[in-house]
Amino acid sequence: MSKIVFFCIPAHGHTNPTLGVVNELAARGHEVIYYSYNSFREKIEAAGARFVSCDEFDAECRLSPEDAAKVGSDLALSVRLLTDTTLALDATVCAEMERLKPDCIVADSMAVWGKAVACKLGIPFVSSTTTFAFNRYSAKIMKQSAGKLLSMLISMPKINRDIERLQAGGYPIKSVLDLIQNDDLTHTIVYTSPEFQPASETFSDRYAFVGPSIRPATQEIKKVRDKLVYISLGTVVTAAQNKKLLRFYQNCIKAFENSPYQVIFSAGSALPVSEIGEIPSNISVHASVDQIAVLEKADVFLSHCGMNSASESLYHGVPLVMYPQTDEQGGVAARISQVGAGILLTKTTPQAIRTAVDELLANSTCRAAAQVIAESFKRCTGAKGAADKILSLCKE
Ligand code: UDP
Repeated sequence: MSKIVFFCIPAHGHTNPTLGVVNELAARGHEVIYYSYNSFREKIEAAGARFVSCDEFDAECRLSPEDAAKVGSDLALSVRLLTDTTLALDATVCAEMERLKPDCIVADSMAVWGKAVACKLGIPFVSSTTTFAFNRYSAKIMKQSAGKLLSMLISMPKINRDIERLQAGGYPIKSVLDLIQNDDLTHTIVYTSPEFQPASETFSDRYAFVGPSIRPATQEIKKVRDKLVYISLGTVVTAAQNKKLLRFYQNCIKAFENSPYQVIFSAGSALPVSEIGEIPSNISVHASVDQIAVLEKADVFLSHCGMNSASESLYHGVPLVMYPQTDEQGGVAARISQVGAGILLTKTTPQAIRTAVDELLANSTCRAAAQVIAESFKRCTGAKGAADKILSLCKE
C-alpha cells in the first residue's frame, strides 16, 4: 500500500479533476492525504482522502478587494501570492512530509508549494495540470505568448525578488519559468486528450494525457422544449466582477425571453438571483446546478471556457458560444475555435447573444467537431491511467 499526498489551490476547477484519481487510488487500498481548503473538505473526504486544512496559510484571502480582482491576470501579484503561501506553509508542510514519508506527492501545477517541498525533500513528484500543458509550442497555438511575455518583462524585478525569497527558503527554483511552465523532466498528468491538447507531440513521454475526469450526473434534468441552452460563467466570480456580470446576465435574459428555447442559467452564488430582475417562464436561474446533468441534455453551452466546463461540454458533444473572462480561458477558447467546436461571442448585447446561439444551433459542423473531441476523450485512460502513473512512481 502506498501513501500519496495531494496539494491543490482553492478552486473547484483545479480540485474536481483530481477527485476521480483520489477515488481510484483509495479504492485500490492506497492511503491518500489531501491538503486543501475548508470549503472543499466535503468533496475531498467523499472521494476517499484524509483532508488537511491549509486555510490559515492562504495568502489570497488576505488580499484587498482591488488586488483580489487582479489575481490570475497580474503575473507579479500571482507570483507574490504563490511565494507567500509557499513560505507560510514551508515549516509545517516540510515537517509533516518528513513525518508522513509519502511515496509520492501530487500537486496542482499552481500549488507550487507541493512541487517545492517534493524537490526539497527528494520525494517522487507528479504535477497535476488541469489546464492545457504549457510550453512554447502550445503557448503559440493558444496565442498567449506576446502579451504574457510583455507583462512578465515589466513585472520582472518584483518577481525576481520573490524568486530570491524562495531560494533563500531552500527551494531549488531558478526562474519564474520553473513556477509557471510545464517542463519535460517533471512527471505530469494532464486532464485532456492528446487531440485536444495543443502541440501534444512536443511534450515528453513523462506526460500522461489521461482525458477529462467527468463525474456522473446526480439528478435528471427535464427537457421541456426542443432546444436547451445552458449558460454559466463558472465558479470563480468575484464581487468585483459583479457589476459587469449583472449587465451580462440581464442581457442574457433579454436575449432569450421571447425565444422558443428552454434556458438554464447558473449564475453563481456571488450575485443574488433576485438582483437579476424578472425571470420569464422559459428561463430558470440558479446559484448552482448539476452541470453534468444539464450538459447531458443541452444543445448549446454559453460558457466562460474554464477548462473543466469546456471539457465537460465537449465530452457531451455540446458546442460552445464562448465568452472567456481571463487569459487562460481565452487560450481554451482559442483551441476550441481551432478544432471548430465553438464560436466566440464578440458583443454582449441581447441581439448579439441571441444571434450567436441561433447560429450555433443551425451549424451542424460545430456539433460534429465537438463530437470528434468527445470521442478522443472517451479513448483516454482517465482516472485509472492517472492512478497507474502515480503508482508507477511510488515503486521507483
Ligand atoms: N459547476 C457546477 N455547477 C455550476 C457551475 C459550475 O457543477 O452551476 C462545475 C463545473 O461542472 C466545473 C466547475 O464547476 O466542473 C467549473 O470549473 P471551470 O474550470 O469550468 O471554471 P472555474 O469555475 O474554475 O472558472
